[in-house]
Amino acid sequence: MSVTLRAAAVSDRGKVRDNNEDAVYAGARLIAVADGVGGGPSGEIASGIVIRELAKLEDSAGSLDEAIGAANQRLREAVRADADLEGMGTTLTAMLAVNEGLQLAHIGDSRAYLWRDGRLTQLSRDDTFVQGLVDQGIISATEARAHPQRALVTQAMHGSAIEPSFAPVTPRAGDRYLLCSDGLSDYVDDDTIERTITSSDDLEECARALVDLALAAGAPDNVTVVVAQPDL
Ligand code: MG
Repeated sequence: MSVTLRAAAVSDRGKVRDNNEDAVYAGARLIAVADGVGGGPSGEIASGIVIRELAKLEDSAGSLDEAIGAANQRLREAVRADADLEGMGTTLTAMLAVNEGLQLAHIGDSRAYLWRDGRLTQLSRDDTFVQGLVDQGIISATEARAHPQRALVTQAMHGSAIEPSFAPVTPRAGDRYLLCSDGLSDYVDDDTIERTITSSDDLEECARALVDLALAAGAPDNVTVVVAQPDL
């Protein structure tokens, strides 16, 4: 018997962008957020391709690793079929129920957080230039938030070789999981997220409250949030 999730997703174009290049999935076995990049409509196309491919996991016994490989292949095929899509790509942060546990997969600068026992912990590690500086002790996490090159992503899905990171998560009753695009985490700090993610028993209301915080902060980017909890 596999773990099941209760999950709610909210995605908003934000207050500045003309389109929403984020894509999202929230099901009973899989939750996922993708933040597309590329000129014109291609960012939206890339995140859509990847989320549609990952969504097949909801009703299959496939692994995240295989699904990410297949999604990356779909990106490669799309660019081969239409040269205008050259350069498109997307982040991906996803959690899949596997037997009694959860598996996290991550590439890029979207994020996964765990709220447990009143504390918020970031589960994913940003694939960004500034995260590299933090890891080397050159700048602090606070300095990273204001760094001029904070948007520089070192790895995303573009159809070429990738090294996603994977981590198991052992679910516990009362956990809340948050997947979000950088449109949330760049503009709403972790302390505020920690307070808001349990502001209601209704997961949809929590997701909406988080997106509203990004909108109140000006929402220069698309903002996407999935709030989930295990049904144990
Ligand atoms: Mg973004």
